[in-house]
Amino acid sequence: MLRYGRHHLDEADVAAVLEVLRSEWLTTGPKVEEFELAFGRATGSREAVAVSSGTAALHAALQALGVGPGDEVIVPAMTFAATASSVLYQGAQPVFADVEPETLLLGPAEAEARITPSTKVVLAVDYAGQPCDYEGLGALAESRGLALVADACHALGATDGLRPVGSLAELSAFSLHPVKAMTAGEGGVVTTDSEELASKMRRFRNHGINSDFRQRDAGASWRYDVEELGYNYRFTDFQSALAVSQLKKLPGFVARRREIARRYDEAFEGMDGLLRPLGSRPGATHAYHLYVVRLDLKRLSTGRTSVFKALRAEGIGVNVHYIPVHLHPLYVKRLGTGAGLCPVAEAAYEEILTLPIFPAMEDSDAEDVIRAVSKVLRAFSRKTA
Ligand SMILES: *Cc1c(COP(=O)(O)O)cnc(C)c1O
Repeated sequence: MLRYGRHHLDEADVAAVLEVLRSEWLTTGPKVEEFELAFGRATGSREAVAVSSGTAALHAALQALGVGPGDEVIVPAMTFAATASSVLYQGAQPVFADVEPETLLLGPAEAEARITPSTKVVLAVDYAGQPCDYEGLGALAESRGLALVADACHALGATDGLRPVGSLAELSAFSLHPVKAMTAGEGGVVTTDSEELASKMRRFRNHGINSDFRQRDAGASWRYDVEELGYNYRFTDFQSALAVSQLKKLPGFVARRREIARRYDEAFEGMDGLLRPLGSRPGATHAYHLYVVRLDLKRLSTGRTSVFKALRAEGIGVNVHYIPVHLHPLYVKRLGTGAGLCPVAEAAYEEILTLPIFPAMEDSDAEDVIRAVSKVLRAFSRKTA
């Protein structure tokens, strides 16, 4: 089965981890700093704070902004559940916004429609790997006194014009999970230009303590202060070594994803509109964490489920990203959300399929996907008179 995404490690990655395993520091040592500096440079940000997961990165970002009980955070319905969970962790309320019909990204109009006097943050998601319209969202946030945070877990390596993702919002969160653009096994990063927010997040990832073990060790002191409640969201030195090694290959990884996407785009143009790729934003480059297609269900004699099953039977590990978050029982029970709240996301959900895309995919794998998609959709296509 050709999976929809997977990591790509080489011997240099393995050697980098082994070196740390044989060294003095396993966690919060020199490698974490080295990775943070390199990641900040790669994303055009003054600060990068490494944490234990993308979800922890989102949580740290919201905590740094002072989000708490009584606050609302606007979140698009079309995203992974963790985007909204991070809001609940802080005791605040996620408010689900609909998405733009072609890109399935949160746009300024959709965000504006959800603003109330309690709104504190707009948390946009770079769905599939395209950066949102941060200029438009930023102008809205500024005029309404809100903070703008990017869940950029899909978009590491993408740009908007000349500006890299990571530098487009006040805070941007990334994931280093194996299906993402690069990996450290698990891990996350928040980028920002604010030194103040960065040092707040460095305390938050270490129990709210105002110095780390290595600093106290160097200063021959046991003294530290817990200033506010923190978590253990630390990133280890051996993960950092892997991340530093992977980061060097990121541009190549993204280029390969884009190459596969171009192949798919070209092949699917010849399929009479039975399916179409997501719309792309002019001026932005796409990191293609996901290659999402939309089926034209009116032209098919069956629903998405049968297409999904038929492709799986062909050995193509298709997937669906995502069930709109407001339809999950947690939110239905807790916030009373449900069908009808975000009609564009709900309609898109019925039509979307994620096809395999990852840098280690061979051209022949891509050809297999194209052949299987074409075979299955033609078999299910409604005969027109
Ligand atoms: C992967 C992902 C996350 C969470 O990242 P983890 O590292 O798995 O915690 C959050 N948001 C989005 C959109 C993601 O794709």
